[in-house]
Amino acid sequence: MIGSKRIERARTISIDQRGRIAPGELDGILGPRAKPAQGTMPIGRWRGEPVMVRMFDEERPEWPGGREWLGQLPEFIYPLLSTALQVATWRRDHRFCGRCGTATRPHGHEFAMVCPRCGFRGYPRISPCIITLVTFGRELLLARSPRFAPGRFSTLAGFIEAGESAEEALRREVMEEVGVEVGRISYFKSQSWPFPHSFMLGYYAEAASREIHIDGIEIEAADWFMPEMLPALPPSGSISRALIDHFVNGVAARD
Ligand SMILES: [Zn+2]
Repeated sequence: MIGSKRIERARTISIDQRGRIAPGELDGILGPRAKPAQGTMPIGRWRGEPVMVRMFDEERPEWPGGREWLGQLPEFIYPLLSTALQVATWRRDHRFCGRCGTATRPHGHEFAMVCPRCGFRGYPRISPCIITLVTFGRELLLARSPRFAPGRFSTLAGFIEAGESAEEALRREVMEEVGVEVGRISYFKSQSWPFPHSFMLGYYAEAASREIHIDGIEIEAADWFMPEMLPALPPSGSISRALIDHFVNGVAARD
């Protein structure tokens, strides 16, 4: 799955401790074809060539961050960028066995760090989240977190907690964040979001109640918007924007 044990020549994506990525010579982030350096990890193939990730222990503030690359690179490279960032984060954060504290080693041909003492295997962590556009007829419920750029509103999102289904998490998050009850839910699509390891499951949710009560902490403002009068939205390429655009286009097609 992630390549043979002995890779003679590969292209390398170089990532620092903070997820900054070195500019490369191919598709923005891929380094020249070369013999892999010590400590690099294979993550797959790209344009027929093996690709490795190399973690740098020091910080390289001159390299652009992952989100900056995301805004610059074409969408087809997104899965590779996402894999590289998540594997790098996982290698940084799983150097020791979580069960017995011994230093771990990479598994030969799986995405796994193995403990040589107790045999425990650590895999890249993926954190599932729901992301949902709540609608009422033609209207969209959009909200803003204090972390957003000024004026920007987006869909609602939250982590799925241990023991919950995606549907349960969706109803709970919407109730907690905006106090709205949700009726019918329909699945849209998913997207890996490597900041640092989220996996977004996108849904539409029809509101069963209309009155909004925000929590004032995670959400500082929320409102119903008509498709013709939308506020500043998340950038294209994000699943939140795709949820909004797809709904608005559907409304326009029905009108
Ligand atoms: Zn162990």
